[in-house]
Amino acid sequence: ANQIDPKDTIFAKIVAGTIPCKKVYEDEYCLAFDDINPVAPVHVMVIPKHPVSGVGNLATEQDKKAMGHIMAKIHHIASLKGIDSYRLVVNEGVQAQQSVRWLHIHLIGGRQLAWPPG
Ligand code: 5GP
Repeated sequence: ANQIDPKDTIFAKIVAGTIPCKKVYEDEYCLAFDDINPVAPVHVMVIPKHPVSGVGNLATEQDKKAMGHIMAKIHHIASLKGIDSYRLVVNEGVQAQQSVRWLHIHLIGGRQLAWPPG
């Protein structure tokens, strides 16, 4: 799974607009949209608009700028869903159950969350 090119993933098509999404927020660096299979009342995918397969592949200045920008926008994106308490999750690699090899931050909230996670 780690060999998959991010350009071959479903999120590439969502960024390109060839597959629809329920958009929450978009700017020059990132796109945020509702997860198709939410695990909580709020479950948003926040992704860089350019292809990055995972945390282990963050390398270029563009990657770092986009990820810093995304972190700085998360609270605003949460506010657009009406929450100011949430959990951010990034699943990296097969054992962590990353299923889409296009780096994405899960923004999860709207209910009491358990800790530690499974
Ligand atoms: P992962 O398991 O890779 O950390 O998370 C991938 C997430 O993408 C899952 O929560 C899954 O529900 C979501 N997802 C997969 N395909 C689509 C899709 O076509 N549209 C949307 N909105 N979410 C998707």
